[in-house]
Amino acid sequence: MGKATGFLEVDRKDRTYDSPAERLKHYREFVIPHDAAGLQGQASRCMNCGIPYCHNGCPVNNQIPDWNHLVYENDWREALDNLHSTNNFPEFTGRICPAPCEAACTLNIVDQPVTIKSIECAIVDKGWKEGWIEPQVPAKKTGKSVAVVGSGPAGLACAQQLARAGHSVTVFEKSDRVGGLLRYGIPDFKLEKHVINRRMVQMEAEGVQFRTSVEVGVTVSVASLKENFDAIVMAGGAEDPRPLDIPGFELPGVRFAMEFLTQQNKRNAGDDEIRAAPRGSLLATGKHVVVIGGGDTGSDCVGTSNRQGALSVTQLEIMPRPPEKEEKALSWPNWPLKLRTSSSHEEGCEREFAVLTKRAVGENDVTGLECVRVEWVNGKMQEVPGSEFTLKADLILLAMGFLVPRKQGLLEQAGVELDPRGNVKGNVVDYKTSVENVFACGDMRRGQSLVVWAIREGRQCARSVDEALMGVSELPR
Ligand SMILES: Cc1cc2nc3c(=O)[nH]c(=O)nc-3n(C[C@H](O)[C@H](O)[C@H](O)COP(=O)(O)OP(=O)(O)OC[C@H]3O[C@@H](n4cnc5c(N)ncnc54)[C@H](O)[C@@H]3O)c2cc1C
Ligand code: SF4
Repeated sequence: MGKATGFLEVDRKDRTYDSPAERLKHYREFVIPHDAAGLQGQASRCMNCGIPYCHNGCPVNNQIPDWNHLVYENDWREALDNLHSTNNFPEFTGRICPAPCEAACTLNIVDQPVTIKSIECAIVDKGWKEGWIEPQVPAKKTGKSVAVVGSGPAGLACAQQLARAGHSVTVFEKSDRVGGLLRYGIPDFKLEKHVINRRMVQMEAEGVQFRTSVEVGVTVSVASLKENFDAIVMAGGAEDPRPLDIPGFELPGVRFAMEFLTQQNKRNAGDDEIRAAPRGSLLATGKHVVVIGGGDTGSDCVGTSNRQGALSVTQLEIMPRPPEKEEKALSWPNWPLKLRTSSSHEEGCEREFAVLTKRAVGENDVTGLECVRVEWVNGKMQEVPGSEFTLKADLILLAMGFLVPRKQGLLEQAGVELDPRGNVKGNVVDYKTSVENVFACGDMRRGQSLVVWAIREGRQCARSVDEALMGVSELPR
C-alpha cells in the first residue's frame, strides 16, 4: 500500500484549473497538473483496502491500489505498465472519465476519495513525455484479417488489441478523421486532439490501417468486407439523436448539439469555414443560447457557446434538481445521483431544472422558447398550472442524448438482429451478433454510454474475435 497513515496525514487535493476568465479565451485544455511530489502525496492516501471497491467501480477494472503504490514508491515506469495492462488509453479516461472509481473509493465515505483520475492521467502523461510508450509490434502475424467499423474508443481499443495479437486490422471510419466522439463530439478544452493523434501513430506502427472518409454500407458494402476479412467488428456508436417533438422544431435556429460541437472541433483542427461547416456556420456569438438537456453533451454546448461569445446561456433539464450531496449510507459505493457542476457550468450559465419545453417561437427564425415548470409525483411528470414562461432564444441546441445506432447502410446491409431498445443485439460474453463472424461493441451494442465502457467493450470484444479466429486467446478479458 502507499503509506499506512497517508490518508490521515495528507488531505485530498485535486488538480486545479486556470481561471474562467483566462480559459474562456481559448479552446485548449486548462487543467493544472500536480507536481511529482504532490502526486506522490496524493497516491500515499490509498489505503489498499482489503476489498478495493474502486476496482469494480472502474469499468476497465484498473488495478488502482497497485499503481497508487507504485507512484508513491516513485516507480512510474512500472505504474505505467500496470495501468496499460487494463486500459489501452488512460490519457482519454484520465481526462474525461466521470471517475466512478472515486465514487466507490472507501475514502469517499467521508467525501475525501483518492484523486484516482488525476493520478491515472499523470502516469500516462509522464509515460508519453519520457518516451516510454512505444509500439508493441506482434512477434508473428496470424494471417487473419479483421475489419473494424468505427474509430471511436471502442473501435480503437478493439483494433489495438487485435493488432497486438497478430491480426491484420483495418479500421473504417466515415468521418474525415479518426476518433469518433473523442474527435468530433468532445470539445478540445476537455481533450486536445493531439492526444488521439499520437495513439494513431502508435497503432499504425503496430500494423493497424486506418481508412477515413469510408462509410461501410455506402462507400464500401458489408458484403465486400465479408469477402475480404475473416471477421467484422461493428463499433459505429449510437448516432441517432433524440429529437424534440414540439412546434417550431423546424426553425433554422433549432439545431442538434452534435452539429454545433463538430463544427467547432473542426475549426480548432484548422479546417476552413466551408470544410468545418458545409451546410452553413452555426455560431453562438452574440446570441441568447438555450441548451436543452442536462448531460455531458449539454455541458459541452455551454462551454463552447461561452467561448464563442454568447450573450447568455441557459441550460434546461426536465428532471428535478438533484440533491447537492448524496446520502452515503444509501449510495456508496455506487455512482450517486447528485448535482454535478462541470467546469463549463462554472464559466457562466443559468441552469433550470424541472422545465418542459412547449414551443419554439419566431417568424423566419427562432426568437424564443415557451416553457412550463413541471413537478414529478410518483415518477410521473405533471405541468404546474400558471408556471408558463418564455425564454429569449436565438439559438436552441438539442442535447437530449442519443437513442440508437443509425439503421441505414451498415446495419441494414449487415442484417444483424437488434435488441428491444434498437441497439445491435450481442452479449458481453462473446460480443457476437446474430450474423456469423460479425461482432459488435461500444455504444452501438450497449447504447449511449461512456468512453471507459467503450474501451472495456472494445478490449473484451477483441478477445472474443481472437478466440473465434484462433481457437484460443491470450488477450485479457
Ligand atoms: C458531446 C459529447 C460529450 C461526451 N462527453 C463524455 C465525457 O466527458 N466522458 C465520457 O466518458 N463520455 C462522454 N461522452 C460519451 C462517449 O463519447 C461515448 O460513449 C463513446 O465515444 C462511445 O464510443 P464508441 O466507440 O462506441 O462510439 P463513437 O465514439 O460514437 O464512435 C463511432 C464511430 O463510428 C463511425 N461510424 C459509424 N457508422 C459507420 C460506418 N457505417 N462506416 C464507418 N464508420 C462509421 C462514426 O463516424 C464514429 O466515428 C460524450 C458524448 C458526447 C456526444
Ligand atoms: S478509467 Fe475512469 S473509473 Fe477507471 S480508474 Fe480511470 S477515472 Fe477511474
